[in-house]
Amino acid sequence: MSFEDKTLQCADCGVNFTFTAEEQEFFQTKGYTNEPKRCQPCRQARKAERYGGGYGFRQRQMFPAVCAECGKDTEVPFEPREGRPVYCSECYSKARLNK
Ligand SMILES: [Zn+2]
Ligand SMILES: [Zn+2]
Repeated sequence: MSFEDKTLQCADCGVNFTFTAEEQEFFQTKGYTNEPKRCQPCRQARKAERYGGGYGFRQRQMFPAVCAECGKDTEVPFEPREGRPVYCSECYSKARLNK
């Protein structure tokens, strides 16, 4: 069976990208039946996300908060809720060590 380059549209950014014959062959040897839905940069960005970021791609949204322990301004990766204390990274790790 031979493959031909195919043009697909990225589901994330809408850019047209090439699903090359080599890639198609690779997909088949791996037993993948789905065509890739995303272009290379978007795939890499998603991979980076899955591995906790750190590749300089999309950053997690941070929310400003005030540490309940030391009163310092800080940022947390979740939305602070009323009545729930938020700690800066310093106090947070201290609190964990005290447990
Ligand atoms: Zn894309
Ligand atoms: Zn603190």
